[in-house]
Amino acid sequence: MRTQVGIVGAGPAGLTLARLLELAGIESVVLEARSREYCEARIRAGVLEQGTTDLLREAGVGGRLEREGIVHHGISLQFDGERHRIPLSDLAGGRSIVIYGQTEVVKDLIEARLASGLPIHFETPVEAVDAARGIVRFEGGELECDVIAGCDGFHGVCRASLPAGSFREFEREYPYGWLGILADVAPSIDELVYAHHERGFALLSLRSPTRSRYYLQCRPDEELSEWPDDRIWEELHRRTAVDGGTLHDGPVLEKGVTGMRSYVCEPMRHGRLFLAGDAAHIVPPTGAKGLNLAIHDVRTLAEALVQRYESGAESLLDAYSDHCLRRVWRCEHFSWWMTTMLHLPPGGDAFDLRLQHSQLRYVTTSAAQASALAENYVGLAEV
Ligand SMILES: Cc1cc2nc3c(=O)[nH]c(=O)nc-3n(C[C@H](O)[C@H](O)[C@H](O)COP(=O)(O)OP(=O)(O)OC[C@H]3O[C@@H](n4cnc5c(N)ncnc54)[C@H](O)[C@@H]3O)c2cc1C
Repeated sequence: MRTQVGIVGAGPAGLTLARLLELAGIESVVLEARSREYCEARIRAGVLEQGTTDLLREAGVGGRLEREGIVHHGISLQFDGERHRIPLSDLAGGRSIVIYGQTEVVKDLIEARLASGLPIHFETPVEAVDAARGIVRFEGGELECDVIAGCDGFHGVCRASLPAGSFREFEREYPYGWLGILADVAPSIDELVYAHHERGFALLSLRSPTRSRYYLQCRPDEELSEWPDDRIWEELHRRTAVDGGTLHDGPVLEKGVTGMRSYVCEPMRHGRLFLAGDAAHIVPPTGAKGLNLAIHDVRTLAEALVQRYESGAESLLDAYSDHCLRRVWRCEHFSWWMTTMLHLPPGGDAFDLRLQHSQLRYVTTSAAQASALAENYVGLAEV
């Protein structure tokens, strides 16, 4: 088999790249380890920056997003039993965020590709890639490509196929994780609430007018069996209680524990292989940046590939890694900053609490600090 661009992974990065290339008349083959059902059911991100929603609309996959996405113009930070609203749009030049689940983004992209009569090779795990020669190896075959897009997530094979010593890794593991639930109950909040509490962080979020998505800080190795639904609701009530606020319980449809990590692989290009999304970098979810960064990477890659196929020039492909890494590191810093401001470390004492309260008070009372949070949260236009 031969193609122009071999795409490994049908997550948000791989599927968006495939769509952008299709619109530009560039051929691609998408290879995905899992089934379509599995990819469409994987519950993860839900906060889309305006740059992400603009791109999905321009790519002709924004119809349902337009109808069902919920636009938010602010978030709240809660500490010391009080909520403080950060008016994102007022502080960030009118930009906003949209709540629309990653599952829905993936469904829309899969549907659009199949509707164009283009295949996605599900249940076809790639075993290795040869970055120098542009070869993708999977069980029973090989795909020869001008360019390989490594969109196979943090545990994929593309980065793992690179020779040791050919890239540099930057990594930080956090001593806590998130216990996330999806509940079949109307959200008790109009906008996201990031709650700092001495028992640990909590996040009140949503997926739709009838589905709530809530998170609790926990140990990264926490056993789900330790968290029956009653205990989850009790803890959510304690950590997010405010005067006049109510939190409605409901059936828990899904729950899981996610560890937290910051990770960057430099460079993001190796010969014919271009890493994109979680395959190249990971952020803790507190800043809601992972999916948005993945989309930014593939937009940059698609523009570079259009230049290559239209004019033969490779200046944008050559600049790909440096260009993406500038935004990656901005988001790494923002995600680390939000995470360490809001989560009490294990063994954290009154000194840590006082520092965090002071920082939260500063962010919610200083226009400059609040603006910095807002423009990073909605996504910086230029980095
Ligand atoms: C609990 C949680 C909450 C999050 N919340 C947010 C949020 O609010 N906002 C935000 O922006 N981000 C958030 N994220 C991060 C976001 O989900 C990821 O950054 C995003 O999924 C990255 O997309 P991707 O396409 O790069 O990788 P993935 O979504 O991981 O996709 C990679 C694909 O490659 C496939 N694959 C792997 N190995 C192979 C192989 N060998 N061969 C073929 N295919 C392979 C996988 O099956 C998968 O389909 C969250 C993440 C988690 C875990």
